[in-house]
Amino acid sequence: VDERVAQLRQIVSADRVLTDPADLIHWGQDWTRFYQPAPLAIVQVSSAAEVVELVRFARATNTPLVPSGGRTGLSGGAVADRGEVVVSFDKMNRVLDYDEVDGNLTVEPGVITARIQQLAEEQSRAYPVDFASSGSSQIGGNIATNAGGIRVIKYGLTRNWVAGLKVVTGRGDLLSLNNGLVKNATGYDLRHLFIGSEGTLGFIVEATIHLARMPGPPTVLLLGVPELSNIPALLALFQSKVVLSAFEFFSDAALSKVMDHTDKATPFRSRTPYYALLEVDDLGPDGEAVLLELFEQALSAEVCIDGVISQSQSDVNSLWEYREFISEAITPYTPYKNDVSVTPARVPEFLTAVDEFVSSRYPSFEIIWFGHIGDGNLHLNILKPEAMSTEEFKAHCEVVSDETMAIVQRYNGSISAEHGVGKLKLGHLQYSRDETEQGYLRAMKQVFDPDGIMNPGKLIPG
Ligand SMILES: Cc1cc2nc3c(=O)[nH]c(=O)nc-3n(C[C@H](O)[C@H](O)[C@H](O)COP(=O)(O)OP(=O)(O)OC[C@H]3O[C@@H](n4cnc5c(N)ncnc54)[C@H](O)[C@@H]3O)c2cc1C
Repeated sequence: VDERVAQLRQIVSADRVLTDPADLIHWGQDWTRFYQPAPLAIVQVSSAAEVVELVRFARATNTPLVPSGGRTGLSGGAVADRGEVVVSFDKMNRVLDYDEVDGNLTVEPGVITARIQQLAEEQSRAYPVDFASSGSSQIGGNIATNAGGIRVIKYGLTRNWVAGLKVVTGRGDLLSLNNGLVKNATGYDLRHLFIGSEGTLGFIVEATIHLARMPGPPTVLLLGVPELSNIPALLALFQSKVVLSAFEFFSDAALSKVMDHTDKATPFRSRTPYYALLEVDDLGPDGEAVLLELFEQALSAEVCIDGVISQSQSDVNSLWEYREFISEAITPYTPYKNDVSVTPARVPEFLTAVDEFVSSRYPSFEIIWFGHIGDGNLHLNILKPEAMSTEEFKAHCEVVSDETMAIVQRYNGSISAEHGVGKLKLGHLQYSRDETEQGYLRAMKQVFDPDGIMNPGKLIPG
């Protein structure tokens, strides 16, 4: 046994240090499947004090630490493939406090996102950050990636709901940041530096989450859009009169895949190149009439040419399924995925530029577009032609990736809208953060993690 494993067993009880090969694989990877997990050990921590001790151990033995949440990450942020110690927060999942007046819930980092949503409902409130992996992801992982999801257009990112954080830095210090305060004008807000830092500066050991007011029952419209360039006009038209809680889009190719995969019929008679899914969750007494009027206006301006409005919660669920089943429906086609963003107004131009590049260079590739278009966040998916080997497809996708990132840069966009940089996008960071800015990032890392033991090889190029 490695001497360090024996040391780890002194820090936490022996049954919380895992070294079985199956455990190393399980906790050594996230949702990505590009890396071969090879951690030294998994440590299941149960308190902030243990995390402090682990950081001391890591500094003394020069052993890198990888924080691990629900491992639903899509960028390899929680991957351990170089003899690291994985710090799993699975067992740090206690709910510590709820303050009714402040509407603040304080939890340990291993609490599953869906549980936060459920706890909020029990208090007649809501935790509005939501996405397909919320049944497995943890609040610590969400904060470390500043997760987004489907209702960002109204409620913002995870960042908007973090009222306080406790973190253990790479120096082994426990910092208590913002303490749930609404107002706090005391200079640099380190809380926000840790949000989205992917465990590279320190580990989140406690979070105070502000819960939102409970929304009303949602109404959903699914609209058939003939031209991509109509999307910004559609967004502007509806936003002039209602507060949208979601504005999603998908292509007709995406709809076809969902219909093949499920037994769902077309949502309405016409087929159009694109579809927009709009949701409003606080319709006032005249709300329905306002929505109908906007729908009529969109039809008469030919911004959309067909559509449907939900009449019940089961309609709402059924319309969302067209969007939510896309990922599952295309999985058998070994998709190459990319998650990028530009400002919402520039989406049509940007998407057309990428589409033109891919279809002229690789005419046999099928492209499936969908995403949180109201936030300018697009998911580009390219399906592997059946006859092409995975290796050859991967090699072509590297070329697509480089060119897509160059187009992102031309449009001042982001190479990662919401999935983080992790290991996967490290080589593309320069398209969104220039060398000068990267110098500042490295300097900040040096302050919080002087020995480079906190999730090295992720987010910040060495
Ligand atoms: C089907 C599917 C749909 C998804 N949809 C969305 C979406 O719509 N929007 C979106 O934003 N993401 C989405 N994701 C990505 C993923 O769910 C999010 O990135 C999520 O926030 C990751 O949380 P996790 O607990 O699984 O973190 P992990 O994958 O375990 O870790 C993510 C990062 O956080 C670090 N980390 C974990 N815990 C801590 C901690 N306590 N302290 C410090 N660092 C820590 C890890 O080292 C890693 O760098 C999706 C993923 C899947 C599989």
